[in-house]
Amino acid sequence: MAVREVLIHPDDRLREIAEPVSFPLSTKVKQIIEDMADTMYDAPGVGLAAPQIGVSLQIAVTDTLWRSSEVRHDPDNPGGSHELKVWINPEFLWKSDEMATWEEGCLSVPETFAEVTRPAAVRLRWFDMDGEAHEQDFDDFLAVALQHEFDHLLGKLFIDYLSPLKRKMITKKLKKLYK
Ligand SMILES: [Zn+2]
Repeated sequence: MAVREVLIHPDDRLREIAEPVSFPLSTKVKQIIEDMADTMYDAPGVGLAAPQIGVSLQIAVTDTLWRSSEVRHDPDNPGGSHELKVWINPEFLWKSDEMATWEEGCLSVPETFAEVTRPAAVRLRWFDMDGEAHEQDFDDFLAVALQHEFDHLLGKLFIDYLSPLKRKMITKKLKKLYK
């Protein structure tokens, strides 16, 4: 178990474009994925992208089930069921014209939440840890979470969708808190 340091905005490494991963995964990359999961659960967060721990690779992990109140309050399973998902070299094949607005936050932009409007549904192709390709449609919270995570692979943060003034204020606040 290795919890890694999460980079905090503003940090140039959060702005890099991540490289595709090649298969089969090296021991080093498998270790990075394990560390990403440990770091996400430790935070805790619902998702983490490799650039957030300073690794410029197209990998993200998510575990969004704990958001579901039915799961969390299931008496047979008081801890809720966690489902760790690993997304490698993800690519959106389609995004809906219909938009949805959710309040977003980010481990790299602590103590900051803001509403962001994104396509409500997406079709995604990605690879799993065995190098197997998958294609699936997502909507609701997961569609938003995946777009947020994969923005990190393009050097993008959710605050980029806010007004320049708002972004400036957030950056100023975080610089003060974390430098
Ligand atoms: Zn994030």
